[in-house]
Amino acid sequence: MTNGTMLQGFEWELPDDGHWWRRIRNMAFRLSRQGFSAVWLPPAYKGCGGASDVGYGVYDLYDLGEFPQKHTIRTKYGTKEEYLSAIRALQAADIQALADVVLNHKMGADGSETVAAWVDDPEHRDIPGQKEKQVTVFTRFTFPGRAGAHSDFTWDHTCFTGVDWDEGAKESGLFRFKGKQWAPDVDREKGNYDYLMGDDVDVCNPAVAAELQRWGCWYADETGCDGFRLDAVKHISASFYRDWLPAVRRHTGRELYAVGEYWHTQVEPLTAYLAQVDGCMNLFDAPLHQHLREASSSGGQYDMSKLFEGTLVGCRPHQAVTFVDNHDTQPGQSLESWVEGWFKAAAYGLILLRAFGYPCVFLGDWQGIPTRKIAAVPQLPQLLRLRRTHAYGEEHDYFDHPSIIGFTREGAADRPGSGLAFLCTNAEGGEKRMFVGKGHIGRVYRCVMGRSGDVVIDGEGCGVFRVRDGGVSVYVPRMTPGEYLRFRRQQAAREAQLGRRYLAWLRREAGRKREANG
Ligand code: CA
Repeated sequence: MTNGTMLQGFEWELPDDGHWWRRIRNMAFRLSRQGFSAVWLPPAYKGCGGASDVGYGVYDLYDLGEFPQKHTIRTKYGTKEEYLSAIRALQAADIQALADVVLNHKMGADGSETVAAWVDDPEHRDIPGQKEKQVTVFTRFTFPGRAGAHSDFTWDHTCFTGVDWDEGAKESGLFRFKGKQWAPDVDREKGNYDYLMGDDVDVCNPAVAAELQRWGCWYADETGCDGFRLDAVKHISASFYRDWLPAVRRHTGRELYAVGEYWHTQVEPLTAYLAQVDGCMNLFDAPLHQHLREASSSGGQYDMSKLFEGTLVGCRPHQAVTFVDNHDTQPGQSLESWVEGWFKAAAYGLILLRAFGYPCVFLGDWQGIPTRKIAAVPQLPQLLRLRRTHAYGEEHDYFDHPSIIGFTREGAADRPGSGLAFLCTNAEGGEKRMFVGKGHIGRVYRCVMGRSGDVVIDGEGCGVFRVRDGGVSVYVPRMTPGEYLRFRRQQAAREAQLGRRYLAWLRREAGRKREANG
């Protein structure tokens, strides 16, 4: 896919009204016209919090809003039918639907068990605790509301490695069930970061691994999703997804795109993980997020020339999903590290207009976060348009100054009028002479973002571009009448194609409705 863009299709504080899948369905064609080619949908299965669970407190992986469990049939986002309908609408609109897969833990068990456990030190989990204890733990999942539909697998303590709550003593701690080990191939923070929360799923138990593989195949078949966003991979044995993803791909015979969430501000654990899983997935570029946040909040002190140093897109350009913020970094959340508003346009320019990295736009930036009175990033629609129309061709970098950085794209012959020059600063404004390509000698570049004057490209293919204090500038070549005509034709062809897809989708959905009504 050329210049694909993912939308993270939710933020933490969406209303609990059960209308989100319907909204996604209704937005699908608009999102496609705005330049999105994939939407990461939030976890669709029943969480322990029922109708208000964001989705990460997984109770039943097979209940996509279909069974009366946790006092509700629907999830926070709607019913299973509405979820499937949203996925069909996205695909009809030429958008990939990516499912959020949360396999590290489960919560909200149906019953408890009393079992023997070791008490481990939460800060030094690589050293096995010596104290043994009988603990009463909520680890029995029988799903009475589902009554064996889709799968008759039930869970008990043998399916988990440990928990953090002993109901018997009403005591929190890190309790590892007797006979169990934390998986060795997980993140090294705290000695061993297998345990994150809830009942930690023992993916090293062959029966559990087989059931999760069966579930993955069922999920892909049932929903028809185009790929996955994999939650909390640093807390799950690397060998698990190394085997799970190829198995699900083989089963469906589809490519099934995958991106994992490995939350670490250093790049080395990310590259090590990619090697461990044989590169079967991409990873979110958490180090780049960290740099963008620092750049936005250091009062101009952050050295912008180092922005891409030690980032995943810097080391593994084809395996990085770049992003500015997400549902965990948004204000009020566990990993809150919000990129400040004044810097958002620069941050999005740096992920949307460059040659490498698969950018993911956060819904909280795209349409704002009403509960926090945070407005949408006003430049985002224009940056997305520029990504689609102008961000092509060879890239030339100018990360040569502690505050003013820039790059150019030469443009591509099959994209009429394409090419651009980008400049941003986290401190005072200024100017920079940048090479835009020999093919542009004598051309006028128009400033379309950043309120500066036109620039004429000199005999060496360079122009002197300007940026205002704390600002962002984007310049694009002024099109010739011939280029403009070809550009408009391409746009119109895309519009017409989407129009045909829309009509075909309406017909299919009407057919479904008739069938359902008998
Ligand atoms: Ca784990």
